[in-house]
Amino acid sequence: VTTNADVVVIGAGGAGLSAATQAALLGAKVIVLEKMPIAGGNTNYATGGLNASETSVQAKLGIQDSNQSFYDDTMKGGQNINDPALVDAMVINSAETVDWLLGLGADLTDVGKMAGSSNSRTHRPAGGAAVGGHLVEVLVQSALDSGAEIRYNSKVITILKAQDGTNTVAGVRVQAPNGTYLILAPTVVLATGGFGANPDLLVSLKPGLEGFGTTNHSGATGDAFDLVKPFSVALVDMEQIQTHPTVVPVQNLMITEAVRGNGAIMVNREGKRFNSEMATRDVMSSAILEQTGKTAYLLFDHGVRESLKAIETYYSQGLLTEGATVSELAGKLGMPAAALEETITTYNGYVANGADPDFGRKADEMPRSLATGPYYAVEVGPAVHHTMGGVKITPTTHVLDTSGVPVAGLFAAGEVVGGVHGANRLGGNAVADITVFGKIAGEQAATLALSQK
Ligand code: ADP
Repeated sequence: VTTNADVVVIGAGGAGLSAATQAALLGAKVIVLEKMPIAGGNTNYATGGLNASETSVQAKLGIQDSNQSFYDDTMKGGQNINDPALVDAMVINSAETVDWLLGLGADLTDVGKMAGSSNSRTHRPAGGAAVGGHLVEVLVQSALDSGAEIRYNSKVITILKAQDGTNTVAGVRVQAPNGTYLILAPTVVLATGGFGANPDLLVSLKPGLEGFGTTNHSGATGDAFDLVKPFSVALVDMEQIQTHPTVVPVQNLMITEAVRGNGAIMVNREGKRFNSEMATRDVMSSAILEQTGKTAYLLFDHGVRESLKAIETYYSQGLLTEGATVSELAGKLGMPAAALEETITTYNGYVANGADPDFGRKADEMPRSLATGPYYAVEVGPAVHHTMGGVKITPTTHVLDTSGVPVAGLFAAGEVVGGVHGANRLGGNAVADITVFGKIAGEQAATLALSQK
């Protein structure tokens, strides 16, 4: 049956749930459509935190930070191709969004510092919970409490266009388990996330991504791009795709670059090194794909383990294969023990001499020899992590068409949007992006819908 709503939100990830909550709090009738059986999308996998500057939490903790610094770091991280107006809007609204989330019951009272940030501004739960899952839980409850409805297993297959010939939305067509139906609404918030789990689209934009895995949830298929076709929507930075060379297959967990930085080497199934482990992400990724089985092993000793806290987490997650000696480890990995022993002896010689004649790993990139058992290894391969490109919006989340004119009634927030992160997204900036712009989109859509009543 056809129903009516003031605001339809497509996608129940961090952006969609923020929009739904804010729109419902403002008094709009909100329906959220989520194609998966659960809420959260890629937001469920966010572990870093929420970057925000000049916040009440930072003040309480005595942390010095400024909006200017947050802006500068984000532009620098994005290689300055970010849309400055969107970065500005994210930064300026970040502190208020943190207070809004705290008011909804979120715990963001611990603040840390992530790569690319000049100051401590990554807000996260003090209780140690991962930020993404925590925010999804809080926002689902807030959306429901404020009166929004969330429909799962409900995929939007069309955004309806007004019949008066203008570029205006009129609602959506939904595919539910028992058939399709319409929801008529004057405003639609596109919050469908990215396309990191759509290999065809990824490879068509960037052929070098052939063979890459993904860290994304299976629903990150970029449905938005077909949905917005009738509205001639402008897309930006579609080829800006963030990848990571060391992701554990199947579990899809990223192993931090610091493991290599602290002295790990990388070997193939033959027990041999094949590249400087400190090469850039793209070079490292291609080099791994050239090895037997298209994956490789990060390998290190107990000294490296003791040097890095993150390794304790990997250890407790059961990701590491352990051997008391190099040859025991080789046996467990099904690798020729003699070859692996020779690789490590040779590498330890390079560490001592401060030079790697095989692959040119620099002296300061070889901080310690691998000589103290037990030895550890983890299988890794390259994977797509974040899609920076997407639909073009204004700082108030209005979706623009290819002539730069807003599509009436259409708003977007989150990973579906392009331009916020430029060529590279900093850790902690995705959660800032989805909550700041999600909240704005909810505000804008509700205000417009209610003004038309
Ligand atoms: P963001 O961080 O931008 O909120 P997420 O990946 O967390 O992005 O959430 C996007 C959500 O949108 C996911 O839960 C995904 O399943 C959902 N989604 C994607 N396409 C559709 C669609 N066509 N209809 C309904 N939900 C969709």
